[in-house]
Amino acid sequence: MNTVAFNRETYQKASAELERRRGAANAKAAAFRERMLREIPRLAEIERLMALSSSKVVQAILSGGDVDAAVERIKTENLSLQVEMSMLLREHGETAVNFEPQYTCPVCQDTGTVNGKRCHCFEALLREYSCRSLSELSAMQPQSFDDLSLLFYSEKPDGRSGISPRARMREVIEYCRCYAADFDGKDVSLLLRGPTGVGKTHLSLAIAGAVMQKGYSVVYGPVQRLLHRLEKEHFGRAEGDSEEVLLNCDLLILDDVGTEFSSPFYTSALYNIINGRMLDGKPTIISTNLNQKELADRYGEAIASRITGTFQPLVCAGADVRLLKLKSSIGGN
Ligand SMILES: [Zn+2]
Repeated sequence: MNTVAFNRETYQKASAELERRRGAANAKAAAFRERMLREIPRLAEIERLMALSSSKVVQAILSGGDVDAAVERIKTENLSLQVEMSMLLREHGETAVNFEPQYTCPVCQDTGTVNGKRCHCFEALLREYSCRSLSELSAMQPQSFDDLSLLFYSEKPDGRSGISPRARMREVIEYCRCYAADFDGKDVSLLLRGPTGVGKTHLSLAIAGAVMQKGYSVVYGPVQRLLHRLEKEHFGRAEGDSEEVLLNCDLLILDDVGTEFSSPFYTSALYNIINGRMLDGKPTIISTNLNQKELADRYGEAIASRITGTFQPLVCAGADVRLLKLKSSIGGN
């Protein structure tokens, strides 16, 4: 895992979440103890006796005599008090474990650091928040594979391929469903190709949702917006860590590639991201309505051959589903 620099806002959000977790665990343990002491008054006495044992040991040492024997006796007393406590708790259907705060991360006890280094739980939170802020996925409508209705795709075989749009989409949806279900961060990159409105964005968001549910970091965005943000940060007009996040997230989904404003900065940024992720073995999903020649014309052979040579192409076909849905909702067909 690369060491990633995160911006201040992401850092603050992740720290606040750790603090919330730690506070909640401590409060829960305190509430449990309070309730138990109320319900089992003998517990308070046991706690008091156990707290006395260290001063008893000191006394034994100061008073001379057989210190070892005294320490042994105190240990035995303590043990029987612990046994009594466990039995009392068990009678109440509880265990002594709950006296201790149950932290989300037992490694760092929700402090976020272990031996002066960031704990893996803190790293995971930082990645999650930076991906989220870049994607604004929370603002997007969550989509599922099940919402993709095949009814909007024609059953009439395509003149050239002999395959109907409906049959083609059934295969593409199934492929994407399995892709998301089996996702492990080392998957093949995908090229979702097809005209506007045939469900590419819906498929992308469904994959994003399913992969995120598995705990992987996902950045989804229309390529224009992602590149615009990258450009602003690059030229110092905004603070952020977009480049790091785009390169390092587990899955990057670039939607609507080819519709963005054309500029040398965008082209080279796109190449660096796609190439960088490829070298790290990280999957990227690109959706576009450009064919291979159009990709080459627009971005040059370097990017086009990178994409067509290594991405798994999935061709989405059919008429504009959004228009068909609109028509059917106003009574046409
Ligand atoms: Zn931790």
